Amino acid sequence: MNLIFLGAPGAGKGTQAEVVSEAMNIPQISTGNILREAAKNGTEYGLKAKAAMDSGALVSDDIVIGILKERIAQDDCQNGFILDGFPRTVPQAEALDAMNIKIDKVIEIAVADETIKQRVSGRRVCEVCGASYHVEYKPSKVEGKCDKCGGNTIIRKDDQPETVLERLAVYHEKTAPLKEYYAKQGKLVTVEGQEEVADTSKLTLEAVKA
Ligand code: ADP
Ligand code: ZN
Repeated sequence: MNLIFLGAPGAGKGTQAEVVSEAMNIPQISTGNILREAAKNGTEYGLKAKAAMDSGALVSDDIVIGILKERIAQDDCQNGFILDGFPRTVPQAEALDAMNIKIDKVIEIAVADETIKQRVSGRRVCEVCGASYHVEYKPSKVEGKCDKCGGNTIIRKDDQPETVLERLAVYHEKTAPLKEYYAKQGKLVTVEGQEEVADTSKLTLEAVKA
């Protein structure tokens, strides 16, 4: 099964993508994580991407499409995959269609902007492996340490309040049109984000299996 997870920054699409990835044993491909890793390693495209990411802008379609093509070609994607954070623009969606990869469903995690603004401030990410946490909704077992690898969990630079506003604006302008794009293909399923992560996960798993 090939799935796309769509949602505003901080809506919890990554968290839900992870739940489905574990339940169905298919890899979760987060373009945000791949880009942050590249930025950390100082690769040429990573440094270019970092400037865009830190300001809340999108990384160029060329770079992201290139990354995705390479990632999807790997063996572990043969039995399906979950795209978490790709596509984010109509040209990216068109590029995916042009790759002749059949997408089964597009799951939108819908959360109001007001809720997002409140939530993002509590978000933390492991600086080593990229796992994500939330101080209130999804705390790590030991505060400040990653459950998976023991690395430090930190606040992402682009989770500062001003940058979050910019990312929400970019989401509404560039990414939200994908809802209509995939609705037209009959693939869009909307899951309303709930107060409790576990409740959203239940709805998400139902939507995937329906
Ligand atoms: P969030 O979903 O919380 O916004 P991500 O980790 O998915 O976080 O993305 C972080 C940043 O990485 C984005 O704001 C953007 O700059 C960049 N990025 C990730 N995926 C894409 C993409 N498909 N196209 C363009 N930029 C991307
Ligand atoms: Zn970690």
